[in-house]
Amino acid sequence: MIALLDLDGTLTGRAAGFAAWARSFAAEWSLGDDDLRWLHRLDRTAGGREQFFDALSRRLPHTGTPERLWHDYRVRMPELTPAFPGVLAHLRTLRASGWRLVVVTNGRSQTQVGKLRRTGIADVVHGWCVSEDVGVRKPDPAIFAAALALAGGSDRTAAWMVGDDPAADVVGGHAAGLRTHWVSHGLAWPESEVRPDAVSASPAQALAALAG
Ligand SMILES: [Mg+2]
Repeated sequence: MIALLDLDGTLTGRAAGFAAWARSFAAEWSLGDDDLRWLHRLDRTAGGREQFFDALSRRLPHTGTPERLWHDYRVRMPELTPAFPGVLAHLRTLRASGWRLVVVTNGRSQTQVGKLRRTGIADVVHGWCVSEDVGVRKPDPAIFAAALALAGGSDRTAAWMVGDDPAADVVGGHAAGLRTHWVSHGLAWPESEVRPDAVSASPAQALAALAG
């Protein structure tokens, strides 16, 4: 039994990590509530980190250049991003009952591996595939193939892809021949062509469902 596991929003709480970063950034620069609210709004609307830090540096130039701000963010995020409640315990249970566990995640290696180590997930899983290392991003089937090889399995139909991103994790995993488990966080499934094989509202529930 193999489980390929997304990281951000599936094993670790990106939103909680961002909120912690925003609080510490606001404290460091003595920002008021207006600026803190603006940071959270920008996080939802910026599109990507590059745009986020461009906009931040334009509004608050004294805090640094976009490059400097992004660099500092990457250094700090791993220590601020928590695992979701129950995730570590469920991963240990799955591993103890024979599951092979590999994290497959889009992002920078330093950031993602930092999160894995800091949260303790690195000690429980058998390995990880980070897009920066592999050279392709989800939903490219090649990253799922690399993760599957790392897990030591060749039978895709016996492997699950667990993730919160409909396109990258579920549609991508399905196209790669995997069974898919969507962590919905209470949202409605947005796609019409492909449906996940299983849905759970929370990461802990998804991992518990795998354990059966
Ligand atoms: Mg995710």
